Amino acid sequence: MNIAFNKPYLTGNETNYIEDAVKSCKISGNGKYTQLCQEFFQNKYGFHKCLLTTSCTDALEMAAILIDIQPGDEVIMTSYTFVSTANAFVLRGAKIIFADSNTAHPGINENQIESLITSKTKAIVPVHYAGFACDMDLIMELAAKYNLFVIEDAAQSIDVYYTSKDGTKKPLGSIGHLAAFSFHETKNIISGEGGMLAINDERFAARAEIIWEKGTNRSAFFRGEIDKYGWVDIGSSFLPSDIIAAFLYAQLECMEDIQQKRLANWQYYFEKLQQLEQSNKIRLPFCPQNSSNNAHMFYIICKNLEERTALIAHLKSKQINAVFHYISLHKSPYYADKHDGSVLPMVDFYSDTLLRLPMYYELERSDIDKICTEIEYFYSK
Ligand SMILES: *Cc1c(COP(=O)(O)O)cnc(C)c1O
Repeated sequence: MNIAFNKPYLTGNETNYIEDAVKSCKISGNGKYTQLCQEFFQNKYGFHKCLLTTSCTDALEMAAILIDIQPGDEVIMTSYTFVSTANAFVLRGAKIIFADSNTAHPGINENQIESLITSKTKAIVPVHYAGFACDMDLIMELAAKYNLFVIEDAAQSIDVYYTSKDGTKKPLGSIGHLAAFSFHETKNIISGEGGMLAINDERFAARAEIIWEKGTNRSAFFRGEIDKYGWVDIGSSFLPSDIIAAFLYAQLECMEDIQQKRLANWQYYFEKLQQLEQSNKIRLPFCPQNSSNNAHMFYIICKNLEERTALIAHLKSKQINAVFHYISLHKSPYYADKHDGSVLPMVDFYSDTLLRLPMYYELERSDIDKICTEIEYFYSK
């Protein structure tokens, strides 16, 4: 039997809520289910304001507009990330300054950030890779010191808590000025395509709503705050149909169950592969002490590219689909000649060696047994 890399999990209520949305004849954006989802997040995580978007990519683009990125502005992030993290700012003319990743995990090497800050720097974009938190205390201190914005790429880090130096526990996505989440079908909580912008800095709340609604003040009009609406700013159609939100709401109702099941799978992998890590064959995921784990992803780190390629082929021959992840953005066909030339050894290392194992709700223990047995067999040769 083939073991897929990912399988979207359905809670059972998605189509009921979609039917309800359809029958209500209010299926454009900002309807009942959109409101329900946004309130869910605001209440559960204390985000000042949430706006559903059609993707995390769109939420990042909204963030770039909100912080008023101008041509030539610089934005700092790791090069080990999805293209949208960078592209959203490049669309507005920013220059991306790529930092390296950590030795312990693919998140941005926080200790490099300060040396990359110039008079043109406008923002830092930490990506919480695999749901593991970046050092937000340090990043927020730098932002305060140099008057920068912090936009969390929280695409993978829903329901993760970060413990600050002072002991307070905060959900990821609530710490930066803005944060972008993804509900793409490969994430923990899904709506096919989908995303959300979390606005923590109140100064952005009113304008965010306008940018979301094509640059108009239609939302205020619908609330009865003004008697006509019009074009007041730049913007785009960033809001999803309420049909998408209906799907998402069914997922949110089952979030605890989804997270528990994923975490059980994650821990089972971690126990089963301990031995291989102890004998120095592979490295297992590193979750920083101040971060909780949302079991978004289970990855292992191989020795080098050749070994990883051979392991992928071996697993494939046993009908197990394991996949590598990002290819360094600073070496990508689009950005290579725009990159400042700095060498980013850890980004290149993860690009060559990180391997993601199948990880989803309906993955059985027997599947994990089989996957781990095949990995053990590969390393016994
Ligand atoms: C998935 C992902 C995105 C993009 O999310 P979409 O909802 O597909 O636009 C951006 N950044 C990171 C780190 C991601 O994992």
